[in-house]
Amino acid sequence: MNDTDTSIAPDWKTRYLDLVRQQSEESETAVESEKLLCRIIIRLTLATAGLDPALDPHLISLRNAVRKGVQADMKERLSAISEALLRANDDPQSADHAETDLLHRLIARSGLTGRNAAKLRKMGELLIAEGERTSDDQIDSFLRLLSRPEGGASSGGLLSRLFSSSAAVAPDDADEETPNQRLLALLKSLDWPKQFVQDVNRLELELAVRKDADVWAEVMTSLVTLLSTSLGRVQSEICDTRGFLEELTQRLLDIDKHLHNGAEIREQSRVDGKVLDQVMKHQVGGMRDNMDAACTLDQLRQDIGKRLDAIESHVGTFIENEGRRHQEAAQIEEHLRHRLNEVQNESRELRSKMVEAHRQAATDTVTGLPNRLAYEERLESEFARWKRFGESLCLLVWDIDDFKIINDRFGHDAGDKALRIIGQNLQSGLRETDFVGRFGGEEFVMLLIGSAKSDSIDLADAIRKEVQESGIHSLGNRVEVTISCGLSCFTEGDTSADVFARADQALYQAKKSGKNRVLAL
Ligand code: GH3
Ligand code: MG
Ligand code: MG
Repeated sequence: MNDTDTSIAPDWKTRYLDLVRQQSEESETAVESEKLLCRIIIRLTLATAGLDPALDPHLISLRNAVRKGVQADMKERLSAISEALLRANDDPQSADHAETDLLHRLIARSGLTGRNAAKLRKMGELLIAEGERTSDDQIDSFLRLLSRPEGGASSGGLLSRLFSSSAAVAPDDADEETPNQRLLALLKSLDWPKQFVQDVNRLELELAVRKDADVWAEVMTSLVTLLSTSLGRVQSEICDTRGFLEELTQRLLDIDKHLHNGAEIREQSRVDGKVLDQVMKHQVGGMRDNMDAACTLDQLRQDIGKRLDAIESHVGTFIENEGRRHQEAAQIEEHLRHRLNEVQNESRELRSKMVEAHRQAATDTVTGLPNRLAYEERLESEFARWKRFGESLCLLVWDIDDFKIINDRFGHDAGDKALRIIGQNLQSGLRETDFVGRFGGEEFVMLLIGSAKSDSIDLADAIRKEVQESGIHSLGNRVEVTISCGLSCFTEGDTSADVFARADQALYQAKKSGKNRVLAL
């Protein structure tokens, strides 16, 4: 290796190798979280198999896919489950049929036979017929029978089987536990990656606090959405990193090759110069000898003439070679400049593509508002700013009132339209520095920056009124839609999770105390 190589190469090569090392470490972390996600997904699909016939094919397909390793269509599979769960709660026409169907499946899979099976069927049919009037006692006896092992054997009933994949749960008196409690225990027993901990805590709180028997289905929907968002992010990070490294390696190899060619030319020039120097010395020495030995002036003139010819010819060749080398060097330099330009343009393009991809990944397709991912990023930066500068920061959780009724009465498309209109109402009430995003389902989150608590409450109340007054339009008729809000501001010692939990609790109270109101905690 020559002088030029040793002075330039180590600098960029070291930086490049550092970069490669750093990128591959990041990839490894991403792969680790991916594996963790896969394990969690497999356990969740095992735990929930058999709860709803519409869900089962999706769960089986997802589990098989995850076992084979993460694939590009994983997000769609998770979305399909989320959809199936939504539909399971939504579809009023098929509800009776679906419930009876589900009951038969439950009996079939419970392992109960004979009198117990008949008793279970009778009790189940009673529950379906009673609908909302069903008492907690009726539900408890149904669950007890369902989870009772046949003939006292230790095989366990359906509920035990459902959640038995959770090693740390299933106490001996499992007979007394509801699906909500079981799911709660399962969530607690899993070793969640740290980015999920806050959300999972919130879901655990819902399972623990809320009394409705089917909270587990909602919680599963939220979990599936959560996992699918995260999985998508991990996959795109891995792809970005791989693509970027391949591209960068190719470009650097190319530049390295040309630098090498340039160095070779300079080396050749140095060797040629040395040869010319020797030739000159040899010829000049020869002239001196000729002068000493020459007998006649004519002979001396001839000898010196030959030597001058030789010198002229060598110098001519040297100059010619130098000229060619200069030309080659200029070409290489031009080529390098061109390549560097290209690399710069490509990296600029790549950066703007990545910015656009990130924008799309952070936007909710129904409302066009920032989505949950964007909210989490923004919350993190606002939280850091609040800690540093202490400027007031309030967090608001919004939930449309009786949205299920709007869907049931006017259809899913009208429901989506209502989501868009309400999203616009929420956004138009804010300053540019504030934030609103769709948290999921019919819930929105807001961050108000620099507004004191009382001002934030006033602003939220004005937005609430605006939503109520604008309503939505269906077949020329105005339909009133209302929305409730839970608000909480950051105070000394708070974490983001603390404030979110308070706002969520305030929302819960706003719903309980009659809806269409703003409540602060
Ligand atoms: P509450 O006042 O207690 O909030 O009652 P609710 O009916 O609004 O709440 P619930 O949680 O029972 O139902 C929420 C409904 O929102 C269920 C689901 O069908 C609907 N939903 C969730 N996401 C979407 C969506 O993207 N589009 C539409 N059209 N509906 C959705
Ligand atoms: Mg809701
Ligand atoms: Mg609602």
